[in-house]
Amino acid sequence: MKIFVTGGAGYIGSQCVRLLAQRGHTPIVYDNFSTGHRAALPDSIQLFEGDIRDFAALTAAIGETKPDVVMHFAALALVAESMREPERYFEVNVSGGHCLLRAMLAHSVKRIVFSSSCATYGIAQALPLQESSATVPINPYGQSKLMFEQMLHWYASVHQFEPLIFRYFNAAGAWDDLGEDHEPETHLIPNVLRVALGRQHAVQLYGGDYETADGSCVRDFIHVRDVAAAHVLGAEQAQSGTYNLGTGRGVSVLQIIALCRKISGHAIPIERLSRRAGDPAVLYADAQKAQSELGWRAEFSDPERIIADAWRWHQQHPLGYHAPDSTRR
Ligand code: NAD
Repeated sequence: MKIFVTGGAGYIGSQCVRLLAQRGHTPIVYDNFSTGHRAALPDSIQLFEGDIRDFAALTAAIGETKPDVVMHFAALALVAESMREPERYFEVNVSGGHCLLRAMLAHSVKRIVFSSSCATYGIAQALPLQESSATVPINPYGQSKLMFEQMLHWYASVHQFEPLIFRYFNAAGAWDDLGEDHEPETHLIPNVLRVALGRQHAVQLYGGDYETADGSCVRDFIHVRDVAAAHVLGAEQAQSGTYNLGTGRGVSVLQIIALCRKISGHAIPIERLSRRAGDPAVLYADAQKAQSELGWRAEFSDPERIIADAWRWHQQHPLGYHAPDSTRR
């Protein structure tokens, strides 16, 4: 298959590009490099540098490449930033996303795999979160993802689109020389490991007074390779529907810090701060549906494995993809 990957130079997109190529497919990347990295892509990739809000560029790229499937990773994806600048989130994730749907429609490309998020659920009324759980986002990021999902449902019913929606929980980990390099970095594991590398003096803990066993937030960490595998599996099976991608197991922020201490051998001091706006206390997935309908398993998602893989990558790339000692430069 030819797969048009928006945001393919990003953290999760680049892993998916690698797996698609390994499976004999032809990935084509469309990215504006706002947060992505050229060094995360193979030299041989067909690459369009462009913005998803640029309808002319997008429709030309889709028309030229005539993909079988679109995988849509491109988005703004920082919860806290979305609480300060919601307008940017609706502009890129909703308007930009809609631009993509119109470009696909113009060329009769109707299969799309979309990177949605557990942020669409908001505060869980019951756990684990099922795909049928209420979706009441508590931040503009989650709202923008839900709005795009809703557009997809209408494109499916009116234009016969076939959307496959994955609601990821917390993607983490690395795959050989592909890892997580965001600036600013807001995700837990890379931030804790930055302390272990001596790049930060302490890890910031936002809220230690949640109603959880140890007072810190609880999340469901999924290895980025397992996320990529679900995309490839779903596309190969021509599946549509909405699926959680998580492990069904909640791990607290303090438990993650303890594992990072164990794996890195570093003391990793903690700086305790107040709660961050827009953070629910506990989120973890019921991942049964993806298992039973797609035959997908979270193969690499044991928390120790996730952290060990991430730690290896961060040690080899202490300043990310742009470091002079990066193995890819
Ligand atoms: P990322 O920031 O590493 O990757 C996003 C990619 O999209 C980057 O390459 C960036 O340059 C590109 N991009 C952004 N805006 C663009 C635009 N306007 N036009 C063209 N390209 C643009 O993020 P990620 O962590 O790889 O996340 C990928 C997707 O998965 C996002 O849609 C995100 O919302 C979703 N998601 C991520 C997580 C997670 O834990 N990382 C969890 C749930 C959902």
